[in-house]
Amino acid sequence: MKKAFQHSVSLMAITFSIFLMACGNNTASEATNTDTTSSMAVTDSVVGYDISLVQNKKDPTCGMPVTAGISDTAHYDNKVLGFCSPGCKEEFLKNPKANIAAAEMQ
Ligand SMILES: [Zn+2]
Repeated sequence: MKKAFQHSVSLMAITFSIFLMACGNNTASEATNTDTTSSMAVTDSVVGYDISLVQNKKDPTCGMPVTAGISDTAHYDNKVLGFCSPGCKEEFLKNPKANIAAAEMQ
C-alpha cells in the first residue's frame, strides 16, 4: 500500500514537471505567434482599410469613392474619414471645414 502511494507521488511529480515544461514551451510559441499576427495586422492596415469603418462616401480631396480603396484614415468631428492616399488626408486636414462637404458623409 505504502509503495503504491510513493509510486503515484513520483508519477505525479514527473507529470507535473512535464506539464511545466509543456506550459513553458506553449508560452514561448504563443508569444512568437502573437508577434507574427501583430506584424501581419500592421501589413494589412498599410495595404488597405475596411471601408465599413469610415463614414464618408468619397475622398473629400480628390472625390474618389472610398469603395475604390482606402490607404489612410483621419478622425474629424468624431467621425472616421477614409482617403485614397496619405497625401489626400494631409490636404483635407489643412482645411477640414472647407472640404468636409465633399466627403458626402453617410
Ligand atoms: Zn484621394
